[in-house]
Amino acid sequence: MSHLVKSPWIIHYDASSCNGCDIEVLACLTPMYDVERFGIVNTGNPKHADIFLITGSVNEQTRSVVKNIYEQMPEPKVVVAIGICASSGGIFRECYNVAGGVDKVIPVDVFVPGCAARPESIIDGVVQALGILEKRHAYQQSVENSIGQLIISQAEESDLPEIMSVQKTAYQSEAELYNDPSLPPLQQTLEQLREAFKTQILFKAVINGKVVGSIRGYTAEGTGHISRLSVHPYFQSKGIGKKLVSAIEARLTEAKRFEIFTWHKSSRNLELYGKLGYREFKTDQLNSAINRVYLEKAK
Ligand code: SF4
Repeated sequence: MSHLVKSPWIIHYDASSCNGCDIEVLACLTPMYDVERFGIVNTGNPKHADIFLITGSVNEQTRSVVKNIYEQMPEPKVVVAIGICASSGGIFRECYNVAGGVDKVIPVDVFVPGCAARPESIIDGVVQALGILEKRHAYQQSVENSIGQLIISQAEESDLPEIMSVQKTAYQSEAELYNDPSLPPLQQTLEQLREAFKTQILFKAVINGKVVGSIRGYTAEGTGHISRLSVHPYFQSKGIGKKLVSAIEARLTEAKRFEIFTWHKSSRNLELYGKLGYREFKTDQLNSAINRVYLEKAK
């Protein structure tokens, strides 16, 4: 994948710039600055882009667009905020509808100063972004390689502190999604987990001796109740969640059917459980803003 570093694909979005910085970005493509000599390609499709160049501060109209573009870009990716407006909100930061710099909405890796940012600074920022992209790619590669050493097995009591730590890390993204840090998996204490361990079966996913995921379940009146699927963010989308669900299902031998739940905006979980054969059968409210979605599957 070293071609990514030699031929980075860039997407540029104007989040509410005065167009001063945008003109400088375009100047980088002219023969005078000629960024194409680095193999850079300007694409309009976030799904093909490695580097996200943003100009202008983020306002309430562009907040969701910036997030949407970022989420569609494949990993690894790098974000470059170009100009003072994108870096901090600039002269617009006190405006009623301005959220601030780009880092108020998505993580920013490189800040390019200037008003307007000069083409030389923009090119310098892109070169820095290439270095970050290369490191991220190497890290991702090492994670991919380590997946081959994954071991799924029943957890022991001594694993509980590590399982708790992974659970808290894994559910951070859910807390951000619902803007609610009081979600039950984030509030659970180690003592409560120890209590749950007495009546439930826990499975762990281990890579290189470290717990990277877990799940738990128990059987009552013929139903296998499965919950708290947690996978560390570095290891998500690698098939570990699927393996954990399959492992706990296989262990709940007395169950004639399985039940699992997630929350209404958790599209990744809903998609995963759907692929594993679960179908929604009821909902209830966790609180006024969050619905619990219950899914079932016959054995
Ligand atoms: S930094 Fe200056 S030139 Fe760039 S968008 Fe803001 S006001 Fe315009």
